[in-house]
Amino acid sequence: MPDTDSIHRFLFEHSSIRGNLVHLDASLRAVLETHPYPPAVRVQLGQALAAVALLSATIKFNGSLILQVQGRGPLRTLVAQATSARTLRGIARWEGEVPMGASLAESCGEGRLVLTIERGGGEPYHEDDVRLFESEPLAFRCGCSRRRIEDMLRTLGEPEVRSMVTEQGAITVTCEFCNRTYRLDAVDAGQLFAQGPRQTPSAVHH
Ligand SMILES: [Zn+2]
Repeated sequence: MPDTDSIHRFLFEHSSIRGNLVHLDASLRAVLETHPYPPAVRVQLGQALAAVALLSATIKFNGSLILQVQGRGPLRTLVAQATSARTLRGIARWEGEVPMGASLAESCGEGRLVLTIERGGGEPYHEDDVRLFESEPLAFRCGCSRRRIEDMLRTLGEPEVRSMVTEQGAITVTCEFCNRTYRLDAVDAGQLFAQGPRQTPSAVHH
């Protein structure tokens, strides 16, 4: 058994049985630390993360594998994401008490489960052939960045962004996956919609 975050392929010799062992330690703790999840929610989120980590080891893909569950029960939303670069992140939303020991179906109630694969955004998956008996490290890493937040704000449009700055003095956006906060002051917000192309180095020469 590996004792760190990893996916470990295994194979029973003389039989056709093979599989993957997934071990989540620091990566799971990092996900669970971002929000004050009750124990039953931690269990469900942990299982969902283990499921996507296992699936990501089984399916060849380049990008993100995302499991989303939305229901009317106490566990409202569950999102677990694994990338081909072997990173994990996840989030859960709940209302009221999620029963301990209940199944995912019981916790979520009537709802839907969607599994999607988003292409791109990760390192190419395994150029070489399948390697057996080698474990691969897993890590919690959020894909959010200042650039992504800026792109999102641009889609809101300049008037909306300017009125947010006027009202609040600055814009703060908190990523719900990792709780990282991005702050844009009036100058930053103005630069989002700066007119004209940026000067290229050659244009600077006289
Ligand atoms: Zn984030």
